[in-house]
Amino acid sequence: MKAASFDYVRAGSIGEICELLAEHGPMSKLIAGGQSLVPMMAMRLTKPSLLIDINEVKELKGISAQSDNLIIAGGTRQHQIEASSEVKRFCPMVQKALFWVGHPQTRNRGTLGGSLVHADPAAELPLVSVLLDAEILLQDADGEESVAASEFFLAPLVTALRPDQCLVRVSFPIWSGAVGGSFHEVSPRRGDFAIVSAAAQIALDEAGNCSRVAVGLGGVAATPIRVFAVEEAILGGGLAKTQLHELARLAADEIDPEGDLHASAEYRREVAYVLIERALTDAVQEARARMGASS
Ligand SMILES: Cc1cc2nc3c(=O)[nH]c(=O)nc-3n(C[C@H](O)[C@H](O)[C@H](O)COP(=O)(O)OP(=O)(O)OC[C@H]3O[C@@H](n4cnc5c(N)ncnc54)[C@H](O)[C@@H]3O)c2cc1C
Repeated sequence: MKAASFDYVRAGSIGEICELLAEHGPMSKLIAGGQSLVPMMAMRLTKPSLLIDINEVKELKGISAQSDNLIIAGGTRQHQIEASSEVKRFCPMVQKALFWVGHPQTRNRGTLGGSLVHADPAAELPLVSVLLDAEILLQDADGEESVAASEFFLAPLVTALRPDQCLVRVSFPIWSGAVGGSFHEVSPRRGDFAIVSAAAQIALDEAGNCSRVAVGLGGVAATPIRVFAVEEAILGGGLAKTQLHELARLAADEIDPEGDLHASAEYRREVAYVLIERALTDAVQEARARMGASS
Protein backbone atom coordinates (compact mmCIF):
# COMPACT_ATOMS: atom_id res chain seq x y z
CA MET A 1 0.00 0.00 0.00
CA LYS A 2 1.19 3.57 -0.65
CA ALA A 3 0.65 6.70 1.42
CA ALA A 4 -2.26 8.95 0.47
CA SER A 5 -1.11 12.09 -1.35
CA PHE A 6 0.03 15.03 0.73
CA ASP A 7 1.67 18.44 0.44
CA TYR A 8 5.15 19.00 1.85
CA VAL A 9 6.86 22.01 3.39
CA ARG A 10 10.25 22.38 5.07
CA ALA A 11 10.20 24.58 8.18
CA GLY A 12 13.19 26.73 9.16
CA SER A 13 12.41 27.60 12.77
CA ILE A 14 10.17 26.65 15.68
CA GLY A 15 8.19 29.85 15.08
CA GLU A 16 7.53 28.79 11.50
CA ILE A 17 6.51 25.26 12.61
CA CYS A 18 3.97 26.75 15.04
CA GLU A 19 2.57 29.13 12.42
CA LEU A 20 2.16 26.28 9.93
CA LEU A 21 0.47 24.04 12.52
CA ALA A 22 -1.89 26.87 13.52
CA GLU A 23 -2.72 27.64 9.86
CA HIS A 24 -3.21 24.08 8.59
CA GLY A 25 -4.83 22.48 11.63
CA PRO A 26 -5.03 18.84 12.74
CA MET A 27 -4.57 17.42 9.22
CA SER A 28 -0.98 18.68 9.17
CA LYS A 29 1.78 16.59 10.77
CA LEU A 30 5.41 17.14 11.64
CA ILE A 31 7.92 14.73 10.21
CA ALA A 32 11.21 14.19 12.06
CA GLY A 33 13.07 10.91 11.42
CA GLY A 34 10.05 9.38 9.69
CA GLN A 35 10.76 5.97 11.26
CA SER A 36 7.26 5.66 12.72
CA LEU A 37 5.29 8.20 10.71
CA VAL A 38 6.22 6.90 7.25
CA PRO A 39 5.18 3.27 8.00
CA MET A 40 1.93 4.61 9.52
CA MET A 41 1.31 6.64 6.36
CA ALA A 42 2.21 3.73 4.09
CA MET A 43 -0.40 1.61 5.90
CA ARG A 44 -2.84 4.54 5.71
CA LEU A 45 -3.24 4.51 9.48
CA THR A 46 -2.67 8.24 9.21
CA LYS A 47 -3.33 10.46 6.20
CA PRO A 48 -1.93 13.95 6.79
CA SER A 49 -2.74 16.49 4.10
CA LEU A 50 0.46 18.44 4.85
CA LEU A 51 3.85 17.16 6.07
CA ILE A 52 5.94 19.79 7.85
CA ASP A 53 9.57 18.68 7.75
CA ILE A 54 11.37 19.79 10.93
CA ASN A 55 14.78 18.28 10.11
CA GLU A 56 16.43 21.63 9.21
CA VAL A 57 15.35 23.41 12.41
CA LYS A 58 18.58 24.06 14.34
CA GLU A 59 16.76 25.04 17.57
CA LEU A 60 15.40 21.49 17.72
CA LYS A 61 18.85 19.92 17.90
CA GLY A 62 21.39 19.65 20.67
CA ILE A 63 22.27 18.32 24.10
CA SER A 64 23.38 20.41 27.08
CA ALA A 65 23.71 20.05 30.85
CA GLN A 66 22.21 23.02 32.72
CA SER A 67 22.34 23.07 36.55
CA ASP A 68 20.41 19.96 37.62
CA ASN A 69 19.04 18.92 34.24
CA LEU A 70 20.24 17.34 31.06
CA ILE A 71 18.37 19.05 28.22
CA ILE A 72 17.90 17.23 24.93
CA ALA A 73 16.18 19.08 22.08
CA GLY A 74 13.25 17.24 20.50
CA GLY A 75 14.77 16.88 17.05
CA THR A 76 18.07 15.41 18.28
CA ARG A 77 18.75 12.13 16.55
CA GLN A 78 18.93 8.98 18.65
CA HIS A 79 22.42 8.10 17.41
CA GLN A 80 23.70 11.51 18.58
CA ILE A 81 22.24 10.87 22.03
CA GLU A 82 23.87 7.43 22.02
CA ALA A 83 27.27 8.93 21.24
CA SER A 84 27.05 11.95 23.56
CA SER A 85 29.64 12.23 26.35
CA GLU A 86 27.27 14.55 28.25
CA VAL A 87 24.48 11.98 28.23
CA LYS A 88 26.96 9.33 29.35
CA ARG A 89 28.14 11.51 32.21
CA PHE A 90 24.87 13.04 33.41
CA CYS A 91 22.10 10.68 32.37
CA PRO A 92 23.48 7.31 31.26
CA MET A 93 20.08 5.65 31.64
CA VAL A 94 19.01 7.29 28.35
CA GLN A 95 21.87 5.52 26.56
CA LYS A 96 21.11 2.25 28.32
CA ALA A 97 17.58 2.47 26.95
CA LEU A 98 18.73 3.47 23.45
CA PHE A 99 20.84 0.31 23.26
CA TRP A 100 17.51 -1.52 22.80
CA VAL A 101 15.83 0.90 20.36
CA GLY A 102 15.50 -0.48 16.83
CA HIS A 103 18.67 -0.73 14.73
CA PRO A 104 21.62 1.58 13.91
CA GLN A 105 19.80 2.55 10.71
CA THR A 106 16.60 3.59 12.57
CA ARG A 107 18.61 5.39 15.27
CA ASN A 108 20.51 7.33 12.58
CA ARG A 109 17.22 8.98 11.55
CA GLY A 110 14.90 8.61 14.57
CA THR A 111 14.67 11.46 17.08
CA LEU A 112 13.90 11.71 20.79
CA GLY A 113 10.79 13.84 20.15
CA GLY A 114 9.48 11.50 17.45
CA SER A 115 9.72 8.53 19.79
CA LEU A 116 7.93 10.32 22.64
CA VAL A 117 5.15 11.67 20.43
CA HIS A 118 4.65 8.31 18.71
CA ALA A 119 4.11 6.91 22.24
CA ASP A 120 4.27 3.19 21.64
CA PRO A 121 3.56 1.60 25.07
CA ALA A 122 6.60 -0.67 24.65
CA ALA A 123 9.00 2.04 23.46
CA GLU A 124 12.13 2.58 25.52
CA LEU A 125 12.50 6.38 25.48
CA PRO A 126 8.97 7.04 26.80
CA LEU A 127 9.71 4.58 29.64
CA VAL A 128 12.95 6.38 30.52
CA SER A 129 11.25 9.78 30.48
CA VAL A 130 8.59 8.51 32.93
CA LEU A 131 11.21 6.69 35.03
CA LEU A 132 13.35 9.80 35.45
CA ASP A 133 10.49 12.32 35.90
CA ALA A 134 11.44 14.19 32.74
CA GLU A 135 9.72 17.48 31.85
CA ILE A 136 8.60 17.88 28.25
CA LEU A 137 8.46 21.37 26.77
CA LEU A 138 5.78 21.95 24.13
CA GLN A 139 5.26 25.08 22.05
CA ASP A 140 2.43 26.48 19.95
CA ALA A 141 1.86 29.86 18.29
CA ASP A 142 0.75 31.34 21.65
CA GLY A 143 3.65 30.16 23.81
CA GLU A 144 5.25 27.32 25.75
CA GLU A 145 3.90 24.70 28.13
CA SER A 146 5.80 22.23 30.29
CA VAL A 147 4.25 18.79 30.86
CA ALA A 148 5.56 16.11 33.21
CA ALA A 149 6.35 12.87 31.39
CA SER A 150 4.03 11.11 33.86
CA GLU A 151 1.15 13.17 32.39
CA PHE A 152 2.26 13.17 28.77
CA PHE A 153 1.43 9.57 27.80
CA LEU A 154 -2.33 9.02 27.81
CA ALA A 155 -2.92 5.78 25.87
CA PRO A 156 -1.21 3.73 23.14
CA LEU A 157 -0.11 6.24 20.47
CA VAL A 158 -1.94 9.06 22.30
CA THR A 159 -0.23 11.88 24.19
CA ALA A 160 -1.07 15.23 25.75
CA LEU A 161 0.48 17.00 22.72
CA ARG A 162 -2.16 19.05 20.91
CA PRO A 163 -2.19 19.03 17.08
CA ASP A 164 -0.95 22.65 17.04
CA GLN A 165 2.03 21.97 19.32
CA CYS A 166 5.66 21.04 18.66
CA LEU A 167 7.75 19.09 21.18
CA VAL A 168 10.72 21.40 21.69
CA ARG A 169 12.90 19.76 24.33
CA VAL A 170 13.03 17.30 27.20
CA SER A 171 14.68 17.94 30.59
CA PHE A 172 15.99 14.90 32.41
CA PRO A 173 16.84 15.53 36.10
CA ILE A 174 20.49 14.71 36.85
CA TRP A 175 20.92 12.43 39.86
CA SER A 176 23.94 12.96 42.08
CA GLY A 177 25.99 10.66 44.31
CA ALA A 178 26.56 6.94 43.89
CA VAL A 179 24.01 6.23 41.16
CA GLY A 180 23.46 2.95 39.33
CA GLY A 181 20.98 2.12 36.61
CA SER A 182 19.94 -0.76 34.43
CA PHE A 183 17.55 -1.40 31.53
CA HIS A 184 16.44 -4.86 30.42
CA GLU A 185 13.94 -6.11 27.89
CA VAL A 186 12.65 -9.15 26.07
CA SER A 187 11.61 -8.85 22.43
CA PRO A 188 10.89 -11.41 19.70
CA ARG A 189 14.09 -10.45 17.83
CA ARG A 190 16.90 -7.98 18.53
CA GLY A 191 15.69 -4.53 17.48
CA ASP A 192 11.99 -5.36 17.67
CA PHE A 193 9.71 -3.49 20.03
CA ALA A 194 9.86 -5.04 23.52
CA ILE A 195 7.28 -7.47 24.83
CA VAL A 196 8.22 -6.22 28.28
CA SER A 197 10.96 -3.84 29.40
CA ALA A 198 12.12 -2.95 32.91
CA ALA A 199 14.34 -0.15 34.15
CA ALA A 200 15.66 0.75 37.59
CA GLN A 201 17.82 3.61 38.85
CA ILE A 202 19.09 3.72 42.42
CA ALA A 203 21.20 6.19 44.41
CA LEU A 204 22.97 5.12 47.59
CA ASP A 205 23.87 7.26 50.60
CA GLU A 206 27.22 7.03 52.41
CA ALA A 207 25.99 4.11 54.53
CA GLY A 208 25.03 2.19 51.39
CA ASN A 209 21.29 2.61 51.90
CA CYS A 210 18.97 3.64 49.10
CA SER A 211 18.45 7.41 49.10
CA ARG A 212 16.60 7.70 45.77
CA VAL A 213 15.00 5.14 43.51
CA ALA A 214 12.91 4.85 40.35
CA VAL A 215 11.54 1.61 38.94
CA GLY A 216 9.54 1.38 35.72
CA LEU A 217 8.01 -1.07 33.28
CA GLY A 218 7.09 -0.86 29.60
CA GLY A 219 4.79 -3.13 27.61
CA VAL A 220 2.58 -4.09 30.57
CA ALA A 221 0.00 -1.28 30.37
CA ALA A 222 -1.35 1.28 27.92
CA THR A 223 1.53 3.61 28.78
CA PRO A 224 4.92 3.15 30.49
CA ILE A 225 4.46 2.91 34.26
CA ARG A 226 6.36 3.42 37.51
CA VAL A 227 6.15 0.72 40.17
CA PHE A 228 5.71 2.96 43.20
CA ALA A 229 5.05 0.09 45.64
CA VAL A 230 8.55 -1.23 44.94
CA GLU A 231 10.11 2.23 45.14
CA GLU A 232 8.50 2.83 48.55
CA ALA A 233 9.68 -0.55 49.81
CA ILE A 234 13.27 0.06 48.68
CA LEU A 235 13.75 3.65 49.83
CA GLY A 236 16.02 3.81 52.90
CA GLY A 237 16.73 0.08 52.81
CA GLY A 238 19.89 -1.96 52.57
CA LEU A 239 18.94 -3.76 49.34
CA ALA A 240 19.77 -7.36 50.22
CA LYS A 241 19.51 -9.85 47.34
CA THR A 242 16.58 -11.73 48.94
CA GLN A 243 14.74 -8.43 49.37
CA LEU A 244 15.19 -7.58 45.67
CA HIS A 245 13.78 -10.99 44.76
CA GLU A 246 10.67 -10.36 46.89
CA LEU A 247 10.27 -6.85 45.50
CA ALA A 248 10.37 -8.14 41.94
CA ARG A 249 7.51 -10.48 42.84
CA LEU A 250 5.65 -7.54 44.41
CA ALA A 251 6.09 -5.60 41.14
CA ALA A 252 4.72 -8.49 39.09
CA ASP A 253 1.71 -8.75 41.43
CA GLU A 254 1.08 -5.00 41.11
CA ILE A 255 0.64 -4.97 37.34
CA ASP A 256 -2.34 -6.00 35.25
CA PRO A 257 -0.98 -6.67 31.74
CA GLU A 258 -3.14 -7.66 28.80
CA GLY A 259 -2.46 -10.52 26.42
CA ASP A 260 -2.14 -9.96 22.68
CA LEU A 261 -0.83 -11.84 19.67
CA HIS A 262 2.76 -11.42 20.88
CA ALA A 263 2.38 -12.71 24.46
CA SER A 264 -0.24 -13.78 27.00
CA ALA A 265 -0.94 -11.66 30.07
CA GLU A 266 0.64 -14.35 32.29
CA TYR A 267 3.80 -14.46 30.19
CA ARG A 268 4.15 -10.67 30.41
CA ARG A 269 3.71 -10.80 34.19
CA GLU A 270 6.41 -13.48 34.52
CA VAL A 271 8.80 -11.63 32.23
CA ALA A 272 8.21 -8.43 34.22
CA TYR A 273 9.13 -10.32 37.41
CA VAL A 274 12.38 -11.63 35.93
CA LEU A 275 13.38 -8.33 34.33
CA ILE A 276 12.63 -6.19 37.40
CA GLU A 277 14.81 -8.47 39.51
CA ARG A 278 17.64 -8.19 36.95
CA ALA A 279 17.26 -4.43 36.65
CA LEU A 280 17.26 -3.90 40.44
CA THR A 281 20.22 -6.25 40.98
CA ASP A 282 22.33 -4.59 38.27
CA ALA A 283 21.39 -1.07 39.40
CA VAL A 284 22.40 -1.83 43.00
CA GLN A 285 25.63 -3.42 41.84
CA GLU A 286 26.54 -0.42 39.70
CA ALA A 287 25.67 2.05 42.48
CA ARG A 288 27.84 0.07 44.96
CA ALA A 289 30.72 0.09 42.48
CA ARG A 290 30.36 3.88 42.17
CA MET A 291 30.38 4.19 46.00
CA GLY A 292 33.62 2.22 46.10
CA ALA A 293 35.07 4.36 43.33
CA SER A 294 34.23 7.65 45.05
CA SER A 295 35.34 6.62 48.61
C1 LIG B 1 12.51 -1.38 11.93
C2 LIG B 1 12.16 -0.45 13.05
C3 LIG B 1 12.37 -0.88 14.35
C4 LIG B 1 12.04 -0.02 15.41
N1 LIG B 1 12.24 -0.47 16.69
C5 LIG B 1 11.96 0.35 17.72
C6 LIG B 1 12.18 -0.06 19.07
O1 LIG B 1 12.65 -1.16 19.35
N2 LIG B 1 11.86 0.81 20.05
C7 LIG B 1 11.35 2.06 19.79
O2 LIG B 1 11.07 2.80 20.72
N3 LIG B 1 11.13 2.48 18.53
C8 LIG B 1 11.43 1.66 17.50
N4 LIG B 1 11.20 2.11 16.22
C9 LIG B 1 10.66 3.46 16.01
C10 LIG B 1 11.81 4.48 15.98
O3 LIG B 1 12.49 4.55 17.19
C11 LIG B 1 11.34 5.89 15.66
O4 LIG B 1 12.50 6.64 15.57
C12 LIG B 1 10.48 6.66 16.63
O5 LIG B 1 9.38 5.92 17.09
C13 LIG B 1 9.93 7.91 15.95
O6 LIG B 1 10.93 8.85 15.79
P1 LIG B 1 11.06 9.69 14.46
O7 LIG B 1 11.99 10.81 14.74
O8 LIG B 1 11.41 8.77 13.33
O9 LIG B 1 9.60 10.31 14.32
P2 LIG B 1 8.60 10.40 13.07
O10 LIG B 1 8.35 9.03 12.54
O11 LIG B 1 9.08 11.42 12.10
O12 LIG B 1 7.31 10.96 13.80
C14 LIG B 1 6.60 10.17 14.73
C15 LIG B 1 5.44 11.02 15.29
O13 LIG B 1 5.96 12.07 16.08
C16 LIG B 1 5.54 13.35 15.59
N5 LIG B 1 6.66 14.24 15.83
C17 LIG B 1 7.96 14.02 15.51
N6 LIG B 1 8.74 14.99 16.04
C18 LIG B 1 7.91 15.85 16.68
C19 LIG B 1 8.11 17.06 17.43
N7 LIG B 1 9.33 17.57 17.65
N8 LIG B 1 7.02 17.67 17.94
C20 LIG B 1 5.78 17.16 17.77
N9 LIG B 1 5.53 16.03 17.07
C21 LIG B 1 6.59 15.37 16.55
C22 LIG B 1 5.18 13.11 14.13
O14 LIG B 1 4.23 14.05 13.65
C23 LIG B 1 4.60 11.70 14.21
O15 LIG B 1 3.27 11.76 14.67
C24 LIG B 1 11.52 1.27 15.15
C25 LIG B 1 11.33 1.70 13.83
C26 LIG B 1 11.64 0.85 12.79
C27 LIG B 1 11.42 1.33 11.39
